[in-house]
Amino acid sequence: MKYADVIVDITFDKLDKTYQYRIPATKEGESIQIGSEVCIPFGKGNRQIRGFVTGISEECKCPPERIKEIVGIADKSLVLESHLIQLAAWIRENFGGTMNEALRTVLPVSRTVRQKVERSIRLVCKEEEAKQLLAEYQRKKYRAKERLLAELLHAAGEPVIRYEVASGKLRIPAATLRSLEEDGVIAVESQTVYRTPLREAKEAASDIVLNEEQRAVTEDFAQEYRSGIRRPYLLHGITGSGKTEVYMAMIDTVLAEGKQVIFLIPEIALTYQIVERFQRRFGNRVSILHSRMSAGERYDQYLRAKQGDTDIVIGPRSALFTPFPKLGLIVLDEEHEGSYKSEKAPKFHAREVALKRAAMLSASVVLGSATPSLTATRMAEQGKCKGYRLTKRAGAGQLPEIQVVDLREEIKQKNRSIFSIELKRQIADRLEKKQQVMLFLNRRGYAGFVSCRSCGHVMKCPHCEVSLTYHKEGKLTCHYCGYEERMPKRCPECSSPYIASFGIGTQKVEELARKEFPQARVLRMDADTTSGKEGHGKILEAFAAGRADILVGTQMIVKGHDYERVTLVGILAADMSLYANDYMAAEKTFELLVQASGRAGRGRFPGTVVIQTYHPDHYSIRAAAKGDYDSFYEQELLFRTLGSYPPVIHILAVLFTGKKEEEVEQAAIALRSFLGTPEEVRIGSPVRAGIGKIKDIYRYVLYLKSESYEKLVACKNRLEEEGRENPRYQGCSLQFDFNPSGSY
Ligand code: ADP
Ligand code: ZN
Ligand code: ZN
Repeated sequence: MKYADVIVDITFDKLDKTYQYRIPATKEGESIQIGSEVCIPFGKGNRQIRGFVTGISEECKCPPERIKEIVGIADKSLVLESHLIQLAAWIRENFGGTMNEALRTVLPVSRTVRQKVERSIRLVCKEEEAKQLLAEYQRKKYRAKERLLAELLHAAGEPVIRYEVASGKLRIPAATLRSLEEDGVIAVESQTVYRTPLREAKEAASDIVLNEEQRAVTEDFAQEYRSGIRRPYLLHGITGSGKTEVYMAMIDTVLAEGKQVIFLIPEIALTYQIVERFQRRFGNRVSILHSRMSAGERYDQYLRAKQGDTDIVIGPRSALFTPFPKLGLIVLDEEHEGSYKSEKAPKFHAREVALKRAAMLSASVVLGSATPSLTATRMAEQGKCKGYRLTKRAGAGQLPEIQVVDLREEIKQKNRSIFSIELKRQIADRLEKKQQVMLFLNRRGYAGFVSCRSCGHVMKCPHCEVSLTYHKEGKLTCHYCGYEERMPKRCPECSSPYIASFGIGTQKVEELARKEFPQARVLRMDADTTSGKEGHGKILEAFAAGRADILVGTQMIVKGHDYERVTLVGILAADMSLYANDYMAAEKTFELLVQASGRAGRGRFPGTVVIQTYHPDHYSIRAAAKGDYDSFYEQELLFRTLGSYPPVIHILAVLFTGKKEEEVEQAAIALRSFLGTPEEVRIGSPVRAGIGKIKDIYRYVLYLKSESYEKLVACKNRLEEEGRENPRYQGCSLQFDFNPSGSY
């Protein structure tokens, strides 16, 4: 006798439980396996519902007389590859959250969508005959038939027109079409088509010849791949070193072995650029998968992949679960990017999951970056992946010259502008030469908060513990919950009129740049200007086409396009992110500076980067200025070792949330004591989170540290069970975040 654990209807979180069912001893029963979607009787009335089989065993966990039997395999169902169910279980175990959440994570589409059918009308009788008929229709004044036949006879090439043309433009009634079809004059043909947001590929051979460094890497990879070696690699190549060309050569190798490729990018906005390059190389075997596609497009691209009708899928984190039948390689481009970590449960990191999925299917993984995460470099150092390096710029252009400006000196010189004297001089110089400038503001610390100069009162969101952000139109908004109010004329605490916004945002920088350089055309790009579907691309395009002289922006402008005419990159306040209460602050600062610098000097003219900072001596800034990754890595690893932070050890952040602050605090304290003192795990005390309230939900956090990931997982499991089973914790929910990418 065999028994299956079935998780029922994964759209309900409340039912996050598996129920055991007996597998029928029939032919159909034999084909039931992990991953099958089955029909089961459920509840008192034995209503038939669907569920996924998540486990199979020979042991019956409940009284045999009470166990029910599976009805059969559900039809027309989305079949989850069994390895994806195993992967979901692994994700759940290692990152927390419910099994339902994990299953939804590994399903890039949630349901089947009717396939799109295109209909067309074809003339099936001989041309001679058709002409005679046309004359007859004219005589008898059968106007509709006449219109249709005339159109078909005049169609360029084959005598076929789209159904919509007949029913729309020509206004042919359906009955007329039917009668013509019956008379054997026309045939209505249908064809299923894949919905895709991609345009047809315009193939054009690339004339790029790989340089020596690139060749060494691609040849080594190809040689390993062909001899059956599958493993993770780290491709560390400076900005502009031609990593994308290397990925494409690697993909060639993998495709030649009959395998398929998932290519992950950190942001949807970057999809189209990379797709264009890939289409030129690989033609129409390229597909994309992301959340901004329509349900139909997504389902069709999912099907294409599943049926092996495409070889390469490009997309953000969720594309990682593309159900290729013969997956051979997963690439994570810009692997250091924070967006690879999921913000909602399960808070998994795409890197870890890619490594796991690849190991399950015997595929390779390539992590690529100009500034690899500490985690990835450490993996390479410890031999857990093979490291490749590209040290030279590949195409046109050379590495920029980098100048560090000490902002403390500016104040001494009585320069209160956000532009240092040196940066101002250089901007003026580039404007004169009709070259372009990028001004870059760190998103973190992009304050714009409003406070009173008399009493110090700060305007805060009533629902979240964060300060409100000032917008030019006289509005104060909360970036966490969307709360909005008008900017007060007087301080609500002391009625002083001296209430104003402090700190600078991109909007302010744009304004100041226009004031300082009235002759310049200034564009701004940040979350506010790119809300539309195409906003991001449009601004970058306008800038690339030379319709602006200065582009002001946040992190977003760091990536993507090669701007030939950008010869100056100004980083306004490099150290803003260093103030953040976050063990990754230095790493993020370094990344940002190097990536931003990489935008300069990509064309014929040499580039300069001006880094403005209050901490010119900080190692992350000094290393970035020299483009010296290795010395940064060494210092940062030392810091992580001394402070006990990842990747040296693992951290588990437990977030306690609830509507009543007391309940949350009490629960956090009680659950902390419940944990006791497990071996090899250091546990702190629960504290109010840095942002203690979001959308009226209170937040407490507890940190656990250990060298052993498994030990932390064990703690998570105990907390999860206790939090769920013990009624005293009803007012408090738990969330888990392993190796969080910031502080709570
Ligand atoms: P990365 O991804 O490392 O930043 P890219 O692959 O985007 O670099 O390459 C940067 C630029 O250099 C692109 O314009 C690319 O076409 C060009 N390039 C790459 N490899 C070569 C090469 N071997 N010869 C000439 N140009 C190259
Ligand atoms: Zn006041
Ligand atoms: Zn709010």
